[in-house]
Amino acid sequence: MCGIVGYVGPRVATPMLIEGLKRLEYRGYDSAGIAMSNGHGLETRKAKGKISMLEGLVNGNPIHGSVGIAHTRWATHGKPNECNAHPQVDCTNTIAVVHNGIIENFSALRKMLQMQGHTFKSETDTEVLAHLIEAAFDGKLEDAVIDALALVEGTYGIAVLSSKDPDKIVCARKGSPLLIGLGEGEYFVASDAAAILQQTRQVVYLDDGEMGVLTKDGYEVLDLDARRVSKGVSRIDWSLDEIEKGGFDHFMLKEIFEQPQTIQNTMRGRLVVEEGFSKLGGLNLTKDELKAIDQIVITACGTSWHSGLIGELYTEELARIRCEVEYASEFRYRNPIVTDTTLCVVISQSGETADTLAAMREAKRRGAKTLGLVNVVGSTIAREDDGGIYLHAGPEIGVASTKAFTSQVAALALLTLKLARLRNMSVVKGREVAEAMLALPAQIQSILDHASEVEEIAERFKDATNFLYLGRGYQFPVALEGALKLKEISYIHAEGYPAAEMKHGPIALIDSEMPVVFIAPHDAVFDKVVSNIQEVKARGGKVICITSQEEPVLEGMIDHEIRVPQTIDMLYPILTVIPLQLLAYYIAVKRGLNVDQPRNLAKSVTVE
Ligand code: GLU
Repeated sequence: MCGIVGYVGPRVATPMLIEGLKRLEYRGYDSAGIAMSNGHGLETRKAKGKISMLEGLVNGNPIHGSVGIAHTRWATHGKPNECNAHPQVDCTNTIAVVHNGIIENFSALRKMLQMQGHTFKSETDTEVLAHLIEAAFDGKLEDAVIDALALVEGTYGIAVLSSKDPDKIVCARKGSPLLIGLGEGEYFVASDAAAILQQTRQVVYLDDGEMGVLTKDGYEVLDLDARRVSKGVSRIDWSLDEIEKGGFDHFMLKEIFEQPQTIQNTMRGRLVVEEGFSKLGGLNLTKDELKAIDQIVITACGTSWHSGLIGELYTEELARIRCEVEYASEFRYRNPIVTDTTLCVVISQSGETADTLAAMREAKRRGAKTLGLVNVVGSTIAREDDGGIYLHAGPEIGVASTKAFTSQVAALALLTLKLARLRNMSVVKGREVAEAMLALPAQIQSILDHASEVEEIAERFKDATNFLYLGRGYQFPVALEGALKLKEISYIHAEGYPAAEMKHGPIALIDSEMPVVFIAPHDAVFDKVVSNIQEVKARGGKVICITSQEEPVLEGMIDHEIRVPQTIDMLYPILTVIPLQLLAYYIAVKRGLNVDQPRNLAKSVTVE
């Protein structure tokens, strides 16, 4: 998720490593660290906060050497503090590891290593790698890394140093990007070309299951059976700005396109398909406490409030637990009914949203158990809640939230699976949900592959002054979210409504200039929505319809159609929202607006 940079060669490494980290800082910035192998063993420096904190530390207490690795962390496991920052080291301080990604089976590995006598210092999943490599080390670092990785499940991009096999960096990847930079008698490793662009433009991209062994005399790429792999060298022609955005024009578009991966990360290690169940390690609630919950209150703001509305449908329909969704800003000043069998679910991407935090504190004061659905590890909500589910969606930089929304909905589905299977949901139904969830990443990808169709529709409607978004059931919150996205970045007035509610007022707005977006996948209420489409058409409105399969009944009724793949009713929001995010994005771009920093908005709303 975040940043790795490493150097081996004749030069003093620290300034290049710090410079490289600064180029990666936009990806995550909760803590950073550097390790160097020199004649005196391994030296490390780590600091909480921005790279400038690490820079200050290193300036005051220099770290010498010309073989080094560095990391900027975006925590997934354990608070952002100095101890949890990378590099993580083994018991003997002879192995240093930096890691991007998540080691899924870290807790089993940690127990095994502890039984073998290893002592752990951090809360990270990463630390197991350092101890595994220590345990496997027999003189050659790359062999030890191969042995260690054979035991690991999950995703990683890693770079490793050892004082016992000095002058060498070993790096490896599975599911987390990594490249080797080629200089004159010097080599680099980086998770992102931005980190080394000032040093070289010649790179070798590692693929999953490959490792690199770098010394100042050359580099080798091996597979995880230590067989040599021959790789081509690529030249980077992009500018730094283009690289930071991964080749996309804006962070928002990059984040929209990241969703196959981010939703996968939210589900990683949590879905037990066979049993139709979910494993959620951080809830901090016993089975009995979970069973005793007789009311859920979801409190959130903005986009998170919309995912909360979907959560309400989940918990009532599937787990049969009464649920209320409240704007956090309203909840905190009401006299809400909350008891000690209430579960208060608070949703916030940043984990710092002031109103949501205050609402959580109020629910806690009243005896509720609180559960945070938060993206940023170690944020205030994550620290103060009783338990939580981290989204693991990676840093969200675009102000208009996209990937956090789909991850929130996925996390709510995981929570519901857990609650429902402890109550009335059969294993067969649970399995159906889990299997449908597993298919989501590829389904999102297939929608993104047709983004240009949405762009054409955006061209047609970019000058509209009003939009209406309509949906029913699970699609009503999606209608609200689609309208919000458009308002946020294109400044076009848009409203979301339950489709049938339209005739109680908004129908007065419909004329031949009015684009109406129907979110109408083939679910339980599809036929009802068709009637609402007819009502709009009869008044000359322009209908854009998000649906899921060929529907002859729609013929002649809709002006533009966008199809999403078929899934079960409850999961459609995760698919239908994607074209709406794209529509808002393309309209804003075509209107010449600053998509990543829309006027008047802030990414993390830390005021009331
Ligand atoms: N899972 C690791 C941690 O929490 C790495 C996170 C990252 O990608 O920065 O320390």
